[in-house]
Amino acid sequence: MKRRKKAVPDETADRAAQRLASLIQIPAIAPPGAEPLAPEVAASFARLRALLIEYYPLTFGRAEVDEVGRAGVMLRLIGRGAERPVVLMAHQDVVPVPADWEAEGWEHPPFDGVIADRYVHGRGALDDKGALVVMLEAIEALLEEGWEPPRDVYVLMGADEESYGTCAVEATELLESRGVEPYLVLDEGGAVATGAFPSVKRELAVVGVAEKGILTLEISAEGGGGHASTPPKRSAAGLVAAAICEIEEHPFPAAVNDVTVEMFESVAPHASLLMRALLGRAGSLRPLLARVLPRLGPEMAAMVRTTTAVTMMEGSAAHNVLATRARAVLNVRVAAGSSVDDAVARITDVIDDGRVTVTVLERSEPSPVSPSRDDPRWLAIRDAVTASYPDAVTVPYVMLAASDARHVNRIAPAVYRFAPLRMSSQQRAAVHGPNEKVEVESLGRGVAFYRALLTGAALAE
Ligand SMILES: [Zn+2]
Repeated sequence: MKRRKKAVPDETADRAAQRLASLIQIPAIAPPGAEPLAPEVAASFARLRALLIEYYPLTFGRAEVDEVGRAGVMLRLIGRGAERPVVLMAHQDVVPVPADWEAEGWEHPPFDGVIADRYVHGRGALDDKGALVVMLEAIEALLEEGWEPPRDVYVLMGADEESYGTCAVEATELLESRGVEPYLVLDEGGAVATGAFPSVKRELAVVGVAEKGILTLEISAEGGGGHASTPPKRSAAGLVAAAICEIEEHPFPAAVNDVTVEMFESVAPHASLLMRALLGRAGSLRPLLARVLPRLGPEMAAMVRTTTAVTMMEGSAAHNVLATRARAVLNVRVAAGSSVDDAVARITDVIDDGRVTVTVLERSEPSPVSPSRDDPRWLAIRDAVTASYPDAVTVPYVMLAASDARHVNRIAPAVYRFAPLRMSSQQRAAVHGPNEKVEVESLGRGVAFYRALLTGAALAE
């Protein structure tokens, strides 16, 4: 195996690792939506903030500070020009671990922040405290060196990304009210992925240029209720079950969008001969790829279509009682280029039963697609990747999950979703699961990425 090129001094990586470990020891988990924070949660966020101010005194000291949402903070570092600023985002909150986390098989306790085997272990190491730390390390170091930002730099540290809270919404409203139009926004999403693509040995820096929409639907049916000894021919629960079967038997049609074509074409030169021939011509092979990809597993399937997942079901409350009302909840991820209304219409059509009611509980449209190819902002990200991970190939993709970035899209046309941290397939699976960990060496490269991005030619203009 080839030795990795050394681009970053070890001290940079080690300091980031130490600080990340300390931040992991302060888990802060926000309740859903806009519920007020319990005193102990507010105290955790306050401790986090105090530690960040201690580690990054120049960054916090020089910035204009706005509180956003329940515990979020937005810093504005004033640059030589206020026009078209850069917005860097990373959230401070984490997802909880189960009470019996030991049964999940964690190698190290999730909130101890253990550094072992050249990894920092614990909840938040990748999602998203790792990115938060390397971003702030880069800014602080630049300020120490006397750097003056060529344009305003905003740092948005959300506090409720994982609970669909309002930090990013409020920050966006605040920027909008001040007439700020971000030139480039960077939030979490993709990563420097290893083993992400069959036959591709090179690391891929996968950068989200769009994200799917989210639609939560309730599917319900009314029944007469009554004793289970005299059931009707069709019960409320049966109607809902039949509707679910229809939905699962009729998946949304698959289509390969422009971003996916560009991703395949960028990966192609680094794939095996066979794959190269296929992926290199992705643009003209769309119909074939649309048929093949869904068979390669749920991740590939999700890339090419709107997906539907049945998540909750409810009928009667007792063994021997018929439901007066049965319901199921459907979590729908709407493909880029499609719309929430299209999805509702198709699902209603597929169910095709007037006795079943479809109700929208929550909706968020797919994001617009940010520019790639030869757009200067895309090139700025690609160049920063090359400066920090010289072997990585930068490719665009549509993010399958949702991020805070979707809120900012309203005021910014170029929003990218990428954390400059290396993630193997095992590490990607550990996000929101057991054994979340980040390589110390990768933290050093993450710092190098943000330094290169902020000082790169594209942002200096
Ligand atoms: Zn996250």
